[in-house]
Amino acid sequence: MRVPLVAGNWKMHKLIRESVEMVEALIPLVKNASGVEIVVCPPFTALSAVGQALQDSNIEQGAQDVFSEPEGAFTGAISVPMVLDTGSRWAIVGHSERRRVFRESDALLNEKLLAALDGGLKVMFCIGETLEEREAGEMEHVLERQLTNGLQSVPADQTGALVIAYEPVWAIGTGVNAEPNQAEEAHAFVRGILAQQLGQTTADGIRILYGGSVKPSNAAELMAQENIDGSLVGGASLNANDFAEIVLAAT
Ligand code: PEP
Repeated sequence: MRVPLVAGNWKMHKLIRESVEMVEALIPLVKNASGVEIVVCPPFTALSAVGQALQDSNIEQGAQDVFSEPEGAFTGAISVPMVLDTGSRWAIVGHSERRRVFRESDALLNEKLLAALDGGLKVMFCIGETLEEREAGEMEHVLERQLTNGLQSVPADQTGALVIAYEPVWAIGTGVNAEPNQAEEAHAFVRGILAQQLGQTTADGIRILYGGSVKPSNAAELMAQENIDGSLVGGASLNANDFAEIVLAAT
């Protein structure tokens, strides 16, 4: 009942020409994929060009971040209407690199999430614990805090546009993925918190993606877990063949 979603987060990679070439290679590889939603998240600079290249394909586009205000004196920020204007339908909010490198707080991420949903974007809201937090036995506490604060005041009628991405920080870009049973345990815990916050029926409908060193060789086993409804892919999404294999593993 939850349609799997596979999303690629290109981070700060690829110029405009390379981005368009990437999706031109990807489109034919996944054009017959059914029963899976596909999203690519290029850098802001390439969104317009990639958005055009994706027209008439079965791939949607997302931004890697979005600001909470619709317009104004916010140097360097990109608003929800600007993201929509590029043909994008999604935004990633709360990626661990935004939390850590750009010091984004739970409160700011909540504002971004509310603005994105209210403005009509679908959102992949990222959560995840660091290695220190996991080793200190704080994983559950951290995930609960990120969800409770991050999802505060989300209107019930907008939860259909919300996807959670569980991305243990120690697995991102390290080549070390969470074991499928380890990830499933965290996903089941996350769904339980969502049920407390939003009710069981809503929680059962929300997709929870796994992210952290997903590659063609581990994608199928991870996404076969009961509470893993797809993946958010970093490094392996930069290569059309690898990303297509991951998409097909979800079908
Ligand atoms: C990510 O950045 O969201 C991610 C999961 O990266 P990687 O797949 O490279 O670990």
